[in-house]
This record gives sequence, C-alpha cells and structure tokens, in this order.
Amino acid sequence: MSEPEKFDCIVVGAGPAGLSAALTLAKAGVEAAVLERGEYPGSKNVMGGILFTTILDKLLPEFWKEAPVERHVSQRRFSLLSRDGELGFSFRTGAFNEPPFNHTWTVLRAKFDRWYAEQAEAAGAMIIPGMMVSQVLTEGGKVVGVKTEPGGDELRCDVIISAEGANSFIAEQMGLRSALDPSHMAVAVKEVIGLPRSIIEDRFLLNGDEGSAWEIFGQAVQGTFGSGFVYTNKESVSIGVGSTVHDMKRYKLNPNDVLEQFKHHPAVWPLIRRGETLEYSAHMIPEGGFQHLPRLVADGLLLTGDAAGLVNASIYHEGSNLAMASGVLAAETVIEAKKRGDFSAASLSSYRHKLENSFVLKDLKKFQRVSAFFNDNPHILRDYPNIFVELLSDYFTVSESPKSEVEKSLISKFRREIGVLNLAKDAIKIGRAMR
Ligand SMILES: Cc1cc2nc3c(=O)[nH]c(=O)nc-3n(C[C@H](O)[C@H](O)[C@H](O)COP(=O)(O)OP(=O)(O)OC[C@H]3O[C@@H](n4cnc5c(N)ncnc54)[C@H](O)[C@@H]3O)c2cc1C
Repeated sequence: MSEPEKFDCIVVGAGPAGLSAALTLAKAGVEAAVLERGEYPGSKNVMGGILFTTILDKLLPEFWKEAPVERHVSQRRFSLLSRDGELGFSFRTGAFNEPPFNHTWTVLRAKFDRWYAEQAEAAGAMIIPGMMVSQVLTEGGKVVGVKTEPGGDELRCDVIISAEGANSFIAEQMGLRSALDPSHMAVAVKEVIGLPRSIIEDRFLLNGDEGSAWEIFGQAVQGTFGSGFVYTNKESVSIGVGSTVHDMKRYKLNPNDVLEQFKHHPAVWPLIRRGETLEYSAHMIPEGGFQHLPRLVADGLLLTGDAAGLVNASIYHEGSNLAMASGVLAAETVIEAKKRGDFSAASLSSYRHKLENSFVLKDLKKFQRVSAFFNDNPHILRDYPNIFVELLSDYFTVSESPKSEVEKSLISKFRREIGVLNLAKDAIKIGRAMR
C-alpha cells in the first residue's frame, strides 16, 4: 500500500483566511495544500460584499489592477429605518477615489476567491477544490493529517491551518471550543440583484467606478440586533440582512421574510426595483467577539478567520481583513515553527501574541462589550428609530401652527417617549460599550 501524500501544511478552506495563509507559506517555500469543499474557490462563499484590503495590498501590491473587484467604495451611508421612514447620515470624499482607494472594495466572492486562489497557486501553493475535510487525524493528541471526502482518502501534514469559516468543525473536534452558541452567531441572508450599470450609477449618485456602501439599522431587521446592507457592484446590487440567531428566535422571525420586508421598504425599493435576482444565499457569522474566542492553537493546529471567531461585528462589519490578517500571521507562525522543527501548541503559541499586537485582537477587544450592550438594551434598535423619525416628521410637517408651538409639543413628546435623562444615559452607555 502506498504512503499517504504528506505536506508541510494543510490549509482547510479557500476563503480569504486560507488563501492569505497559503500565499504567505508558498512565498516562503513551505509546501502547502489548500483543500476546498466547493467546486472551485468562491463557489460556496457568501459575503455582503465589502472586501477590506490593507493586507491584500501588502501581499499583492496594487492588486486592483488585475483582480476582479467591482467598485471602490467612496460613499458610506448609515441609516436608521422606521416602519416607513429613514434617518440617515451620508459621507463621501474624493480622497477615497485615489489609490489605494481606502482599501475598501465591493466584490463578488465567486469571482474574487477564484482569482485569489490562482495567485496563491502561481506562488507555489497547491489548491485542491472539490475536497471536503471530514476529520482531523491525530496520533497521541497531535495533528498528523486529515481525512477527506469524497473517497475517504488521508493526507498527512506537520500542521493544519483551519480556515473553514463560521461552521468550523475542526475547532470543536479538537476541543478548542464547545458547540456553537446561538447567542454568539448571526444568521445572514443576501441577494445579488442585477441592474444595468447606468441605472446603478444614477440611483446611487456614482461617477464611473465609484461605489456605495449603505448600512441600515432599526426596522431594516425588524428592530433586532443586526443590520441590513446595500452595496453596489458594477452591474448588480448586493442586498442583505443579518441578525443574531438569539433575536431571530426571540421575535420569531424568519430571515427570508425580514429580507423581503427590507427590500420593499420605501427607502430601499426605489434602488432595486425592476432588478433581477441573480443569486440568493444564507450563511452564519460568528459574532461572539473577544470574550468568546476559542483557544487558537493546539498541537499541530491553528485557527484563522471566521473559524477562530475573528469578526468585528461593530458598526464596521469587518471580517474579510481580519481573516486575511490572521491567515498571514498563522502562516508566519508556521514558517517559524518549521525552522524550529516544532509544531507543538507551545511552539505555535506566538500566533496569539501576533494577533494581540495587530489590529485584529486590538479591535475585537475594543468592541468586546457591544454585543452584550445591545442584547441587554433591545429598545435602542427597536424603539429609537421609530421615535426619532416620528419626531422629525412632526418637526417638518407644514402647518399653520406657529413654529414655537410645534417646538413645544415636540419637546413634550420627546420627554414622554424617551426623556432627556434616559437618552443621556443610553448615550453614555453606548459610548462606554464602544470605548
Ligand atoms: C451575508 C454576509 C455578509 C458579510 N459582509 C461582509 C462584508 O461586507 N465585509 C467583510 O469584511 N466581511 C463580511 N462578512 C464576513 C466575511 O464574509 C467573513 O468574515 C470572511 O469571509 C471570513 O473568511 P474565512 O476565510 O475565514 O471564511 P470563509 O470566507 O467562510 O471561507 C471558508 C472556506 O472554507 C471552505 N470549507 C468549509 N468547510 C470546509 C471543509 N470541511 N473542507 C474544505 N473546505 C471547507 C468553504 O467552502 C469556504 O470556501 C459577511 C458575512 C456574511 C455571511
């Protein structure tokens, strides 16, 4: 019987984390195989659509000249939706139209991941699509390889980088974390809606390849802890909603219904009407944050990206760049361990220090109280958007009432509905949660 094939490192999953790890390993001459269950990298991937690219630009300088990116985001919008109204904040700057385009791009993952895998392959990594890792093989508690499907073949390695995304079974199998907790997971659904380029640019006020990213809270997700998003691609719009599994259950909501209601909200529908749905997908997002990170290494194993719970679910909604950064840092740890010939957990423990010294864990630490805050204060996203829109609607309603009377009745309504003290308390609490 022939010996199973052996690699220095097996990377499980060809998403941003796995491919960044593979590219870094390949550049250093470490033999890496990336196993991807999808028919091709990107075929199974779901993402709202903003790729943050500080790390990518270091790995592949000026990648945007070659990569299948959609639009650079020069316009950011944030809104609160009430049942039929919107209160928003919009920001655009010419500075984001210049290289490196604020490292913020809309992408379609099926195209982007495929291209990124080609770059890793060109650097020397082996990408093996259509192969799902079903089990981690261990000897004496140390990782020695993986079993794959279809076929049940075994591949051997010195070390595994787990980059299989939110539903990582490896972390669980290896005892790095217990079963996923619904209160630390969000469920997201997304559609890609095709529209002619000129219509997108007219509706979103874009010039050429400029892009817009709109994050929407409140009634976008029926007042739950989550948000909706609308991102522009070249000839399509990515639109979706995501909320904690906990809130979806608490309010007995179905994510598909939430998305349908969001799409038909009067502030959203004019942007997508007469579009054709090209793609529909659903996915989990690990939002436990800093306080619920798993152990990140074991003997012969490192966790990266969503598999490690590295998502900044605050207002920034960043996952892609944390995934890429952790992939690079895991690969650098493996390169050092290979020089020592030691892949034990102790030898790999510098990975956690590297993450702590980078924006990845610094940002997760900064926002570690956000989830608990919104879970404990559901009225903020559920009630405030409706009240604020109603107050503004009263203020701007044209009538023959003297303005001084309008203001008086507005102030008394504000006191009744919220109260200065309550608003101040909530503002302080929000400030503390974000500090
Ligand atoms: C709807 C939605 C919107 C989002 N929007 C944004 C956004 O706008 N910006 C942003 O930065 N982040 C966003 N995120 C988060 C972002 O998608 C993730 O943080 C990021 O994709 C994580 O990258 P990853 O490489 O760790 O995992 P993934 O991108 O999930 O890649 C994992 C890969 O592993 C493969 N795989 C899984 N299991 C196995 C197995 N057993 N064997 C082999 N292969 C396997 C999968 O097929 C997949 O290709 C969003 C997420 C969702 C769900």
